Amino acid sequence: MPLLPLEIMTAPFTPPEQGEPIAAIATPVGIGALAVVRISGKGVFDIAMRVFHKKGSQAFHFAQSKGFRAHFGAVYDSEGLVDEVVALVFRSPNSFTMEDMVELSCHGGPVVVKHILKVLLDEGCRLAEPGEFTRRAFLNGRIDLLQAEAIGEMIHARSESAFRTAVTQMQGTLSTRLDAMREQLLRSCALLELELDFSEEDVEFQSRSQLQKELRELQKELCRLIDSYQHGRILKEGVATVIAGKPNAGKSTLLNALLGEERSIVSHIPGTTRDYIEECFVYEKTMFRLTDTAGLREGREESEHEGIRRSYKKISEADMIIYLLDISLDNYLDEVPVIAEFLVRYPSARLLVVANKTDITPDSAERLKQLRAATGSEVCGIAAAKREGLDRLTHEMCIMVEGLDKQQEASVLVTSLRHYEALRNASDALRNAQALIDRGTGTELVAFELRSALEYIGEITGKVVNEEILTLIFERFCIGK
Ligand code: GDP
Repeated sequence: MPLLPLEIMTAPFTPPEQGEPIAAIATPVGIGALAVVRISGKGVFDIAMRVFHKKGSQAFHFAQSKGFRAHFGAVYDSEGLVDEVVALVFRSPNSFTMEDMVELSCHGGPVVVKHILKVLLDEGCRLAEPGEFTRRAFLNGRIDLLQAEAIGEMIHARSESAFRTAVTQMQGTLSTRLDAMREQLLRSCALLELELDFSEEDVEFQSRSQLQKELRELQKELCRLIDSYQHGRILKEGVATVIAGKPNAGKSTLLNALLGEERSIVSHIPGTTRDYIEECFVYEKTMFRLTDTAGLREGREESEHEGIRRSYKKISEADMIIYLLDISLDNYLDEVPVIAEFLVRYPSARLLVVANKTDITPDSAERLKQLRAATGSEVCGIAAAKREGLDRLTHEMCIMVEGLDKQQEASVLVTSLRHYEALRNASDALRNAQALIDRGTGTELVAFELRSALEYIGEITGKVVNEEILTLIFERFCIGK
């Protein structure tokens, strides 16, 4: 990708002319007390004036209204009254999109709302594309790209923690940090480029030892943000939890028992293959994404091999593994070496050993003790089919997540894969720059690496952005947002 000149990378966004007028229903379609239809762009005050009459009077001049004012009246079409509404006026630049905007709150029936939308479209608005209001807010400099994405994440948040993280990002905490880093890099880069202009005179505007010191600090900060991604991803997508164990240990029964509790099941994610299923549940603000894998055994048929391979892949990606075994079997201790192997093979995941079928194991207390001694770890005894011991199990699961929590003390988190990758690229570029300085390589190459780092960081907040990224981000929004 060619680098943009520094001037373009740093140029502030100048609010463009107001865009063509767009309209959309901003609330979910369905029956409710109220619904909101919003319009934004050039000429929306005139459009609103043509469809809205204030109570007892004729046409109302929106263009003369002060901003942030609500007016009670009604929307009319060519055949007469459509609905009584409250019209909220936002004058540019004091609106979400920074354009002139009007929000019409009407009664919440789907027919009424669609009719009002149709009246506005007939009067010259175009139906907004998904995320177009937010896209305009970004393009006009009202919010940066990271904040725009946070709005999307807030809407889609499936747990309290995911919601809180999105709110923090929407407020711009991460953006402020990234902007500060960019500024520092920009300064260093500018000094190096100045040296290039004076290359014949062999001057050094920034001492290399000072530059190295600054880059080390920046690298530290970048690494901290990169490391926060595991925690950020967990907050956003849930703790990737895999239930592993031999066939008949009771994995499916446990999955159903966990999901079947009165806890809120927030979504159903059908597995991409038939070998495993994924479901989410929230327990005490923490979201768990549970995967039931195909039983771990030596596959006899080709298709089974594939299922097992996928199971192991899921396990290797997990944040937490629940290793389930059937404690009623006489050879239950045969699983100990398998557990030990799991600990070695998946060191980054938390392993929770769970012994099932205590209800048909008269000496389960003794067997649990044996297992604890043999594995050297805590073992939860449960009877999944009878839902016994599940409170203790979920409690243990939460304790493990707290552990993951504590790994990351900072409040600023990276939650998006896009941001994570950009930060990794920026960090690589800085590392290259540091190595080049160490080797005493020419200023030009160092400046090139710093510019790359700048560009990668700029991609996150949208200081440097291409159309493709924008489309990818905003198409995930709903229409009206
Ligand atoms: P999976 O192959 O690991 O998914 O195991 P399943 O969930 O299909 O369970 C295998 C068998 O064990 C089924 O017949 C279940 O009813 C039974 N089972 C599961 N949990 C328990 C339990 O807690 N107690 C008893 N007695 N049977 C159980």
